[in-house]
Amino acid sequence: MTTSVLTDETVGEIHSAINARRIWCVLPLAVSRQFSERRQQEFGELARIGWPLLALMVALIITVLWVQFHESFVGPDAVVWWWLVTVTVGTVAVGVIAAQFSQVHECYIPVVTGIGMIVAATMVAGGMLFRNPLVAQEANYISILVVIVIMLPLKLPLLAGATSCLGGLVIGALVATQLGAHPPWQLVLTYYPGSIIIVFFIGMLIQRQERINFLQGLLLTHESAERMRLNAMLERLALEDQLTGLANRRRFNDALHHEWERCQRAQQPLALLFIDVDYFKHYNDSYGHAAGDQCLSSIGRATKGSLLRPADLAARYGGEEFVILLPETTREGAMEVAQRVLAHIDALDIPHKSSEVAPHVTVSIGIALQVPDRYSSAPLLLENADKALYTAKHAGRHQAVMYTE
Ligand code: GH3
Ligand code: MG
Ligand code: MG
Repeated sequence: MTTSVLTDETVGEIHSAINARRIWCVLPLAVSRQFSERRQQEFGELARIGWPLLALMVALIITVLWVQFHESFVGPDAVVWWWLVTVTVGTVAVGVIAAQFSQVHECYIPVVTGIGMIVAATMVAGGMLFRNPLVAQEANYISILVVIVIMLPLKLPLLAGATSCLGGLVIGALVATQLGAHPPWQLVLTYYPGSIIIVFFIGMLIQRQERINFLQGLLLTHESAERMRLNAMLERLALEDQLTGLANRRRFNDALHHEWERCQRAQQPLALLFIDVDYFKHYNDSYGHAAGDQCLSSIGRATKGSLLRPADLAARYGGEEFVILLPETTREGAMEVAQRVLAHIDALDIPHKSSEVAPHVTVSIGIALQVPDRYSSAPLLLENADKALYTAKHAGRHQAVMYTE
């Protein structure tokens, strides 16, 4: 089945089609093609697994008729009998073989309609041509069975099924009268079309339910895809900082503990950079909160843009504070990243007239690095980076300082 994204409009149409509770379920145009494809696929499956059943049914009917009536198959009835067996078996065999090919599935409606019409016509003509009234009656019963098979399990649209059966009646009657039969017309014109009408209505109820099931299936698929999309969005929102698009504090804390344990197992250093915007309160006072937000957003982008390894993580810790986690990184590497952050933020050249260190926005960075051991912990690493940041602030800001004991 092709799963397509349903628009709100189509979902509305599907709901009204299901809730309409009419005798027939009209499919919304947007999904009718999908329904036809589903039908084709179902026909393919039926052709693959159902043909032994059909073959068994034909063989059983022929055997039963032969056992019951073979003594009466003499003269013209013998000709009719062998003609009927040859055409029916031949047509069904051709149909069953053809239905094994996927190219035929694409045009199964005219193929099944045509084959059904030939078999129905053969049975109708047989019912009119047999001289032995018992055999003729049996052929008539079987033609009703043919109508049922054409209309119900073969996945034909109702009108195609009805066309196949009625076409079979007309052709069969024409052939039989051409061959000199004098059928009881009153009977033929009532009971055969009558059975078509009855089977048509049964088929209608079945196909209506199939259509409703199809629409409900589409809604279920749509709703579960929608739920998954919303869950993914919620998950992202829960772990992302809205203003900068960076990881938020919650995600950072998770990553910090995860990386701490990983570096402990690998006995590798874990570096943490604590970044704080210099004189940001002054910035807000000078340019307003909205400009402050925009500035933080640019700083967030520049911070993230300073990272080169996929395992590195930049997050907004809160307010005008950012953190960077650098797993398996040396002191030199961590200092290099810090210098790159300083340079990238300088390069933004965001004017800051009330800063006491530069005419543009700057940051200070505290760095802590640790190979995890039993004397240290992730919170301690954070605390050390914060201490280094304090040192950087006091040393004049706009610089990176490495924590030392
Ligand atoms: P320092 O150089 O010592 O870090 O000075 P500072 O002014 O940056 O430090 P302080 O911690 O006193 O002020 C931080 C300010 O950052 C306070 C607040 O107005 C501002 N701030 C915090 N979060 C946000 C935010 O989400 N948006 C904006 N626009 N401002 C924020
Ligand atoms: Mg601060
Ligand atoms: Mg600050």
